[in-house]
Amino acid sequence: MNKPILIVGGGPSGLAASHALARIGQPVVLVDKADRLGGAPILSGYAKLVPSGEWAKDAIGGMVDRVRGDRLVQVHTGASVTRFEGGPGNFTATLSNGSNVAAGAAILCTGFTHFDSLNKPEWGFGTFPDVVTTTQVEQMISSGRGVRCPSDGRKPQRVAILLCVGSRDRQIGREWCSKICCTVSANMAMEIREELPDCHVYIYYMDIRTFGLYETKYYWRSQEEFKVKYIKARIAEVTSDGHKLIVKGEDTLVKRPVTIPFDLVVHAIGMDPNVDNKSIAETFGVALEPHGYLGRGNAYGNTAETSRPGVFVAGAACGPETIDDSISQGNAAAMSALASIVPAKASA
Ligand SMILES: Cc1cc2nc3c(=O)[nH]c(=O)nc-3n(C[C@H](O)[C@H](O)[C@H](O)COP(=O)(O)OP(=O)(O)OC[C@H]3O[C@@H](n4cnc5c(N)ncnc54)[C@H](O)[C@@H]3O)c2cc1C
Ligand code: SF4
Repeated sequence: MNKPILIVGGGPSGLAASHALARIGQPVVLVDKADRLGGAPILSGYAKLVPSGEWAKDAIGGMVDRVRGDRLVQVHTGASVTRFEGGPGNFTATLSNGSNVAAGAAILCTGFTHFDSLNKPEWGFGTFPDVVTTTQVEQMISSGRGVRCPSDGRKPQRVAILLCVGSRDRQIGREWCSKICCTVSANMAMEIREELPDCHVYIYYMDIRTFGLYETKYYWRSQEEFKVKYIKARIAEVTSDGHKLIVKGEDTLVKRPVTIPFDLVVHAIGMDPNVDNKSIAETFGVALEPHGYLGRGNAYGNTAETSRPGVFVAGAACGPETIDDSISQGNAAAMSALASIVPAKASA
């Protein structure tokens, strides 16, 4: 039997890679620093996922159960890799829980870190309790509590969702687009309108990137069916008049200042590089790309390669990514890692 393949990170990409390998009889050792598997959708309590509309706890929970029930997958939660030595086909990993793992190859599926809105203080997070993040609203919905103002538990009558918080923002060193937050926000706006039909929901945007097929299902539907209002604006600040939150900015279509009161302001936070990336890069001897995500070694020949032979990468570890693409990349990395440890057969 082949040596196990080490998979670091048990979010959607790592779960997909683990399952793909175990299905074809390849043993896997799956290590996650969190005390449970599932990655961001489970650890951050996401509600209904786009584009499937399935609850995260069911969709990603199902992926966790599939891996947990597989005898070929040995799981270490609450653990990380502290040393990683050797070469392709013959690596040794030391885990923080004292275990040693002999592995033929490794796949890094260590994902991302949510942007911390405290790094955008002029937009009110951390100063006003009713300025929250998309993950907090996801948790309000997934817990069944419903969307409420944290200050006093009242149902909001007016909600503003601010896009690109911690993305596409050169002032704070985050130039990337986080890919999914326009779609997640349009979906969230519809969920709020469904739960609170009298509530007015505004989305403040620079550009709308509900890419591919999401344009019809989220961008147009949110406006035409759910009457969500979109304002193209540069936001200056979020303040309070002691009663309501005040969003001030410039409407960039009509080039006029715009000041609107709200009960609840939601930051659509982006996907930062994992805060562990420097130490992951050092431990595994792999290069980072310029923004701080894990670097890919090859753009076309094998997208799962890192700069180190025998070490592969998948999902949001290498940049903002959707769940479906993270799963596809997990499968692709599984194939690449397996191919790196089985003897090559002559092709026709
Ligand atoms: C607010 C918000 C809502 C979103 N909603 C959707 C949606 O509806 N649909 C969609 O397609 N996408 C959505 N996304 C994107 C989605 O979160 C990612 O696509 C997905 O989580 C990426 O999966 P992953 O497995 O690559 O990484 P992650 O989910 O980040 O999982 C990484 C795993 O690695 C572990 N890990 C990290 N560092 C280490 C380490 N050093 N050692 C060991 N383990 C480690 C973590 O504990 C975690 O379990 C959303 C993103 C945000 C910010
Ligand atoms: S997906 Fe939309 S909200 Fe997210 S960073 Fe890109 S443009 Fe901004």
